Amino acid sequence: MSTPIGVTVLGATGSIGLSTLDVIARNPDRYRAVALTANRDVDGLLQQCLAHRPRYAVMADSDAAEQLHRRLHDQAPDVQVLGGDAALLQVAGLANVEIVMAAIVGAAGLLPTLEAARCGKRVLLANKEALVMSGALFMQEVHDGGAVLLPVDSEHNAIFQCMPAGFVPGHGTPDGVESVMLTASGGPFRTTPLAALADITPEQACAHPNWSMGRKISVDSATMMNKGLELIEACWLFALPPELIQVVIHPQSVIHSMVQFRDGSVLAQLGNPDMRTPIAHALAWPQRIAAGVEPLNMLKIARLDFEAPDVQRFPCLQLAQQALQQGGTAAAVLNAANEVAVQAFLDGRLAYTGIPHVIEATLSRLDVHAADSLAVILEDDAAARSYAQELVGGTAHRRMSS
Ligand code: NAD
Ligand code: MG
Repeated sequence: MSTPIGVTVLGATGSIGLSTLDVIARNPDRYRAVALTANRDVDGLLQQCLAHRPRYAVMADSDAAEQLHRRLHDQAPDVQVLGGDAALLQVAGLANVEIVMAAIVGAAGLLPTLEAARCGKRVLLANKEALVMSGALFMQEVHDGGAVLLPVDSEHNAIFQCMPAGFVPGHGTPDGVESVMLTASGGPFRTTPLAALADITPEQACAHPNWSMGRKISVDSATMMNKGLELIEACWLFALPPELIQVVIHPQSVIHSMVQFRDGSVLAQLGNPDMRTPIAHALAWPQRIAAGVEPLNMLKIARLDFEAPDVQRFPCLQLAQQALQQGGTAAAVLNAANEVAVQAFLDGRLAYTGIPHVIEATLSRLDVHAADSLAVILEDDAAARSYAQELVGGTAHRRMSS
């Protein structure tokens, strides 16, 4: 039997991280968690270290790393605890790691994800914000580093599964592909009266009808900024212009996206809404492994519905389209303003309906530059963050919660 493949899970304590470790635990002969990272969830990472015995445990927050070290020392002396941003980069590029799951939420994931690409890893991309921010530069790093970039976002993983055999992201658009249909659930407020949106609470926004996810992406799904970010993500992954990607609301979340071909064929990928399917697919590609996902029962589902997104209800989708059109660092500005606005909403400092206002105001206030270096992207990200922070009446801080 060959030795298991080493995996680094960036953002191990999050929703995607937990699902990834679940799939790894179901396939212990194939995969081994070599490094696990979190921001400051000491209890969560401690439990994972005891269960998975990684070589490294990294906490981005140095105080949290100290705590983890103290608590882990007696129980698992074989796990080396590291702290700080440099340690995140270190475990993204370890020599005995072949696969890096990029599952940190938000811009905080950009540098470690880029490092994994530079080091030529198989990069499993959940952290869409990293690609949205740095687009062309990210794809260039993947190319130069000889990395293999595989989408974990369910829609992009579905599109990837529908693409002709041999295609991998970063190599143009396969011949014969005409367009892509990106499906969206419509979130928890698809049919809520527009007048009621101003009073939406974080708990309501985080209660997604089909998917169980982290709080930031749950709010993004409710506003449909998630679909906006995914539209930008799809343009980069599949080298498609925005006009060839149609957003379709499909409330059942059974079809995860579709590809239309020149001959009139449409291929779709279906499955229960469980992220372990795209995670297992990307881990094992081109093979298939067990993921613990309940088989799809079409008779139980009975019907599949489709509708166009309502632009009045979902202004964030249009803002993302506008940023895409603008190009350059506009997508990084959009993403930064959204991160600040969503955090303010989750903290009870901003109304739900204030989210698109903050983003729109930030986009129209900031100058956009050619996104040709990491320095420019990070500078515009920081400028957008501080302007958006002023709008929501708080002080600038870079880190997302947990
Ligand atoms: P989550 O909030 O549940 O987990 C985020 C993880 O990132 C945690 O481990 C946290 O400790 C870590 N983290 C947060 N801030 C950090 C920082 N500043 N430095 C280092 N680590 C930090 O989020 P999630 O739902 O698992 O989503 C993760 C990513 O995957 C997001 O980009 C999201 O858009 C994407 N994604 C998630 C899903 C889903 O179903 N949850 C689906 C598709 C894509
Ligand atoms: Mg998605």
